[in-house]
Amino acid sequence: MRDFTLSIYRDLLEAIYESSYSTTNVCEYLKHTSEGKWIILRHDVDRAVDRNLAMARLEHEFGISSTYYFRHVEDVFIPDAIREVSELGHEVGFHYEVMDKAKGDKEKALEIFESELSELRKYADVTTACMHGNPLASWSNRDLWRDNDFRDFGIIGEPYFSLDYSKILYLTDTGRTWADRNIRVKDVLETPSHGLNGRYGKTIKSTNDVIDLIRREEVDQICILAHPNRWCDGIAGWTKELVMQNIKNVGKAGIIKYRKIKGQDK
Ligand SMILES: [Zn+2]
Repeated sequence: MRDFTLSIYRDLLEAIYESSYSTTNVCEYLKHTSEGKWIILRHDVDRAVDRNLAMARLEHEFGISSTYYFRHVEDVFIPDAIREVSELGHEVGFHYEVMDKAKGDKEKALEIFESELSELRKYADVTTACMHGNPLASWSNRDLWRDNDFRDFGIIGEPYFSLDYSKILYLTDTGRTWADRNIRVKDVLETPSHGLNGRYGKTIKSTNDVIDLIRREEVDQICILAHPNRWCDGIAGWTKELVMQNIKNVGKAGIIKYRKIKGQDK
């Protein structure tokens, strides 16, 4: 059976619904939650906004509110789409790539951050932001916050910095697998390889593995990052995603090798 289709995503939501987990979005989790059984759902709106809307509507059917991080790029920054996601009860967040846009100039990057954020706020309440990892750039959006504070911009949290991954299992579909295959160049967590993420990172591969894990209820808190542009039911679109991802994975493996040689891999 094909994985990463909207129907399998529905199975995943059903498994959550039947479990004793509650779901939440990033903002609500940061404001109110520390104990208990939670699944935090977040999405990066990288491209293919229609697939994001399909997922947002599906979650809404289940009464789920998750977080959608919108990039500020032409194909994604679509006011009607941003409004709809927000009106469906989801959190709209800012998926920033300002260091890339400013070519590594921090001052300029902060200016872009402020202006893009205020534009996004015309269409929804935005209180969390999450970086968009461009594996081909030599700088990281992460560097921006070494000596600046996102709270100065009314942002209460950034998933890569504000969530405690020693107690939250982090699962991402990056690279069309849930398993950590060492292909996440920028999308890496700075946590030790032991602990929750080390224990489960290698074994959870397919969405059915994620569903099994949810049914077993062994882990109290899980953050699931799904990129909706990768999830579709049409066979033509699905095949294209698969082919494109395999090409990208080969490219990323090359980048990691190169960085290791240069001693930059962290
Ligand atoms: Zn992204």
